[in-house]
Amino acid sequence: MTVKSDIEIARAAKMQPIGEVAAKVGIPAEALIPYGTTKAKVSFDYIDAQKDAKDGKLILVTAISPTPAGEGKTTTTVGLGDGLNRIGKKAIMCLREPSLGPSFGMKGGAAGGGYAQVVPMEDINLHFTGDFHAITSAHNLLSAMIDNHIYWGNSLGFDTRRVAWRRVLDMNDRALRQITNSLGGVANGFPRTDGFDITVASEVMAILCLALDLKDLERRLGNIIVGYTRDKTPIRARELKADGAMTVLLKDALMPNLVQTLENNPAFIHGGPFANIAHGCNSVLATKTALKLADFVVTEAGFGADLGAEKFFDIKCRKAGLKPDAAVVVATVRALKMHGGVGKDGLKEENTAAVAKGCENLKRHLENMAKFGVPVAVGINRFITDTDAEVQEIVKAAEALGARAFVCTHWADGGAGTEDLARHIVALTDEGKAAFRPLYPEDMPLREKVKTIAQQIYRASDIACDASVETAFKDLEAGGFGNLPVCMAKTQYSFSTDPNKRGAPTDHVVAIRELRLSAGAEFVVVITGEIMTMPGLPRVPSAENIRLNDAGEIEGLF
Ligand code: ADP
Ligand code: MG
Repeated sequence: MTVKSDIEIARAAKMQPIGEVAAKVGIPAEALIPYGTTKAKVSFDYIDAQKDAKDGKLILVTAISPTPAGEGKTTTTVGLGDGLNRIGKKAIMCLREPSLGPSFGMKGGAAGGGYAQVVPMEDINLHFTGDFHAITSAHNLLSAMIDNHIYWGNSLGFDTRRVAWRRVLDMNDRALRQITNSLGGVANGFPRTDGFDITVASEVMAILCLALDLKDLERRLGNIIVGYTRDKTPIRARELKADGAMTVLLKDALMPNLVQTLENNPAFIHGGPFANIAHGCNSVLATKTALKLADFVVTEAGFGADLGAEKFFDIKCRKAGLKPDAAVVVATVRALKMHGGVGKDGLKEENTAAVAKGCENLKRHLENMAKFGVPVAVGINRFITDTDAEVQEIVKAAEALGARAFVCTHWADGGAGTEDLARHIVALTDEGKAAFRPLYPEDMPLREKVKTIAQQIYRASDIACDASVETAFKDLEAGGFGNLPVCMAKTQYSFSTDPNKRGAPTDHVVAIRELRLSAGAEFVVVITGEIMTMPGLPRVPSAENIRLNDAGEIEGLF
């Protein structure tokens, strides 16, 4: 059997004009701002007009702790949405926009895979509707205004050693991580150290994804802390009068993007914040809009459930007033084998014992979902190499915790491969058992919030903070930021802070290295390890294999 590449499958798709896709969920032509024939933004006027409509049900797709063996959250999100549509429910998928960096690096695309994809996949993975360009420009406008302000006399009193706002670019470029800017003489300003992050790590990205509307966007942009004076008083973007122009640059980017799946069902692809120093979910506006239009909205959160789902619940849902109705934890035989101690070379041989052992990881994630009051099911994303006996181990492990697991073959079969899971999700949400609650209250002190997540979700015995971190907690409380949620930046590969500890480690201590305030996004980033905000390219970047063929088609984009 020859397996077709994602791009070959995507290219063979019979796409419908975007107006027809929109009409399926009642969006009229005049509410669309088309970008070509298969992509469109949805206008604010139309979104506003839907605000009293009843919300559909919100389903989160999350996963076990990732391994190099792969899980397939995006693919399962698309498959489940197509499956729901196949059984006669109106479902919309809400996904994140991919970054260019990983597309040319090694991760590959982020528009699903196999027969569960969103299209046009080349556009989605490349420039799409220009949102990333807008975010990059808004971010860098603020950077330019900071150095310009200092150049023209620095009346706000920036301590140039404490400028907190870096520059961004949507490319994996390690050469730019640390730079010295303003070199070359008096006319070029005051030299200082600076650096670039990738666009998805920009606070502007997180803000765009959490903003409720244009006014809220502008308010949050104004609140960004760009640097500090010599006596460590924060300076905000508002004081530089940058918030208005930044909002202008972002006004179109804030409108959700509508595309379709291979099965011509509607999908919003909007916003793509990093899942470490930000919350890793698509935009609030897209999710809220989809809820007004569909019976079911299926959305994805980055990384494993200890990070992605926790932040989805505690940051996105809490702040946007969303009430999830169910969660699907995606598991694969291959990844569970790795959690059960098998190395990458041993994945091909049947090994039910390793799968059973690896299910420790799955079980803990399932238990954790219950702490948020959200009913859960397991989606087994089947690979062609999986054996029935291995799959049964997962079903058994889930049942031991009162959850049902379903074999899903959407990668090979499209929506037909997730109908069982889809029917179960409908039944599960019809029971009305969801009683969503965040893990911690807003008024809990920041340090307690971090400890609660570490103990309840990561099952650590405690957190450890050195004196500078203890001081940072106190300063943030004193500065009036104690009510913000925390955004954990931890390795996605383990419940602990050691990426090599697979499975379900216990009794570990979570060392907190640093706190960073995202005053515009309205969360406090808690850093527990090496955090990369500007990735590099691998030894053989996938860019080396990407080209246009003689027919003018893109080759090599996975
Ligand atoms: P995630 O969202 O968890 O990062 P994706 O859904 O993007 O994962 O999938 C990652 C990659 O794995 C994609 O290239 C996809 O084609 C591939 N993949 C996913 N599920 C399967 C499967 N069942 N069989 C083979 N490849 C798969
Ligand atoms: Mg994904």
